[in-house]
Amino acid sequence: MPHNPRKRFGQNFLVDPHVVMDIIRAIHPCKGDLLVEIGPGLGALTRPLLRSLDHLHVVEIDRDIVERLRREFSEKNLTIYQGDALEFDFGALGSNLRAVGNLPYNISTPILFHLSQFAENIRDMHFMLQKEVVARMVAAPSTPDYGRLSVMLQYRFQMEQLFIVPPECFRPAPKVESAIVRMIPRREQLMEASKEKVFASIVSAAFSQRRKTLRNTLRDYLKPEDYAALEIDSNQRAENLSVAQFVAAANRLGE
Ligand code: SAM
Repeated sequence: MPHNPRKRFGQNFLVDPHVVMDIIRAIHPCKGDLLVEIGPGLGALTRPLLRSLDHLHVVEIDRDIVERLRREFSEKNLTIYQGDALEFDFGALGSNLRAVGNLPYNISTPILFHLSQFAENIRDMHFMLQKEVVARMVAAPSTPDYGRLSVMLQYRFQMEQLFIVPPECFRPAPKVESAIVRMIPRREQLMEASKEKVFASIVSAAFSQRRKTLRNTLRDYLKPEDYAALEIDSNQRAENLSVAQFVAAANRLGE
């Protein structure tokens, strides 16, 4: 029986076999990899992944789709978690985890922040996202796309946009273009975990009104002597600060 795509679950199924192969080649799954797919849907990526792997974990919210997957795949090869990926404990799967998925666009930012918490357990991630979201993720300072998402994710991950996927590769076709992004957790410790909360608050405050100067937006955090010590001009805006400068500010405040 055909499955009626559900808008509320962001269901745009990949139907172009060339794009599927390009994604699988980018992931390069190898026997023995610990891999989890978020939102397997009708299995466009699941099936070719299982050609290279003996086993795969998937997290899928839609019960009807889970039923279909149970009918098609054996428990030995596919472990299915029915539920919301935003609440899933990815740390419980083990370490050196690889995560992949053609992510539902309506939850893309929250899922990236959720996965950031498990960066220590993660080897790499390959996701299909809305092209504009990927542009914001990989944006450099002093460009229009650079914002909170860029700083928070670039702090934790090295990221690379791999290729663009046009709407006609999906059923139903989404209104926007998509892009594949590779994310690899950074291993160097840039600041103590205790200071990461300060970092997140400074970044949020700085970008809360992106047209305003840092002197205004970070009034509650940085004093003139802090700007001098950090060698940051307080007349700049959040979009002008590098990730390293945000880290330095958080480290100074944490002292
Ligand atoms: N991987 C398939 C493909 O490439 O054709 C499906 C991709 S579709 C864009 C997104 C999938 O994520 C759907 O199967 C949808 O049901 C599932 N999904 C949506 N929200 C989810 C959530 N919060 N947690 C887990 N899966 C979710």
